[in-house]
Amino acid sequence: MKRILLVFAKQMKLKISRGRRQDHPQTSLRVPPCIPLKWISAMGGLLTVVTQSSLVIVAVFVIPLFFPGCGSVAKEKQLERFIEIHIAKVEPLTTKANLAYWDASTTGRPVDYLKHKQFQLKIRQIYSDPQEYALLKDMKESGQIRDARAVRQLDKLYYAYLRNQIEPELLEKLVDSDNRIQEKYNTFRGSMDGKKVTMSDIYTILTTEKDCRKRELAWRASKQVGDAIVDDLVELVKLRNKAARKVGFDNYHTLSIVTGEQNANELDRIFDELCELTSEPFARLKKELDQILAESYGIAPEDLMPWHYHDPFFQRTPLVYDLDLDIYYKDQDVKELAEKYYAGIGLPVDDILARSDLYDREGKYPHAFSFEGDRHGDVRILCNLQNTERWMETILHELGHAVYSKYHNRKEPWLLKEPAHSFTTEAIAMFFGRLSRNAAWMQQMLELPEAQRAKIEKVSTKYTRFQQILFARWAMVMYNFEKQLYAEPEQDLNTLWWDLVEKYQFIRRPSGPVDAGWASKLHFTTAPCYYHNYMMGELLASQLYNHIVHKVLMLKSDEGVSYVGDRRVGDYLREKVLQPGALYHWNEMIERATGESLTPKYFVNQFIK
Ligand SMILES: [Zn+2]
Repeated sequence: MKRILLVFAKQMKLKISRGRRQDHPQTSLRVPPCIPLKWISAMGGLLTVVTQSSLVIVAVFVIPLFFPGCGSVAKEKQLERFIEIHIAKVEPLTTKANLAYWDASTTGRPVDYLKHKQFQLKIRQIYSDPQEYALLKDMKESGQIRDARAVRQLDKLYYAYLRNQIEPELLEKLVDSDNRIQEKYNTFRGSMDGKKVTMSDIYTILTTEKDCRKRELAWRASKQVGDAIVDDLVELVKLRNKAARKVGFDNYHTLSIVTGEQNANELDRIFDELCELTSEPFARLKKELDQILAESYGIAPEDLMPWHYHDPFFQRTPLVYDLDLDIYYKDQDVKELAEKYYAGIGLPVDDILARSDLYDREGKYPHAFSFEGDRHGDVRILCNLQNTERWMETILHELGHAVYSKYHNRKEPWLLKEPAHSFTTEAIAMFFGRLSRNAAWMQQMLELPEAQRAKIEKVSTKYTRFQQILFARWAMVMYNFEKQLYAEPEQDLNTLWWDLVEKYQFIRRPSGPVDAGWASKLHFTTAPCYYHNYMMGELLASQLYNHIVHKVLMLKSDEGVSYVGDRRVGDYLREKVLQPGALYHWNEMIERATGESLTPKYFVNQFIK
């Protein structure tokens, strides 16, 4: 039990970090942002326990045999009954778990964290029931569930059960392995010239130091944990694969994609297209950046190495283009701005804000997240607001998640009152979060003179554009590496990593023997096969943006678009995205909302002109 609780503690951490999209080095080094708990592919932390109630449920399902001659109706009745019993168990537990979680994050009291873990454990036990899983599988394979709503609910249940089917012995090994890696990771300190350094020392050096030797040492220190954990990590990958094979998949990556209702070929297509479209502009922007960086170190651009890029993985834009936008927000009230803005587009959030916990306090969780207590409208956010650009972005972002939850159609079944996918709620959050740096938006909301707008636009546009393209290239490395990692864990992974970094990020590998620096990215351990969803969220945010500009507001160009005070924006999003919740598969929702399935082309239009 204790060991299992440890895993839950880990998963909880994953749930709570809904801040900026990128895994922010200072604030969430070990915590991938914005992953709702239910979407974690947690083969490392699920339970297989045969619950006593499964016998009762199996008995109940004999009843539908009273509908002779109509298999479909009988099956649908059977499913209806299953869902009724299932929700009766899961809904109260989910609400209790959520509320305990809110208490824990707002007070920091260990007893509330413990309560939350215990409720989570009970929920997991339900989803690991092999007999109920078999029953759902049978219903799905029968092809006799035809009603669209019933099909959607069955899919949701089926995948939730499927990813929890791990036999106890294998589960124990997975949990052991996972814990071992995290323990090593948490206690490991890299060193420079024999002296131990923290990650925050390393980030300071990488963002400010001009001495290239010191930079190299710091960069190498950030990667040393990779070599320390890589054997355990590869072992964990193999164990995850073993678990996936037991339920019929070729490897764990495929299982994660399929149970996340995604399709590997479709993802490949999207990432390939994105690669092609970003390749030339990325090369151009990077060349320009290389010149600036090389000059700052007094070296030639062709001598730049991975440690010259301000971030251990080059996933964030070096600070050379950054603009201090805080000066525009320091005399404002970001909460009031957000409230006014959302009200203006017809998605009022005053009720959400009234329930929320917005300011810094001793013991409180220091970052931000959006929270849904039940599925009947108890939506809140947690923030630690300050009047800065970062918190302006954060509150707009979290309220984006929150309005998604608030405006689900309350009449839909419980299982469908959630976002179409974790990346679709991320997209809505990103769509609004992007505004904090949008010059037109700032001008209108902050009542800035024209000259100020032009000044912001000049720097901010360039920064945002580069950051988006750079992140896309980095996400390609993560996606492709992880896919190949699970397909063939025995291959030379260190070389594979650098092959992909050179291919997508245009960064040269250091000479000499290659180490396992890649394994220092903790997502491989704690949020396996999830990273692509950050990118998908960005793509959808841009697709919605394009549709709103051209088809909702009927504008010819997006120049100066801020949609401040325009209710058409809120009306459109509410009707096409927020209300349907999970009623449609995510791609069907996107097609209905924008006339096309998910495509990278609008992301490219928006940021790569
Ligand atoms: Zn988020």
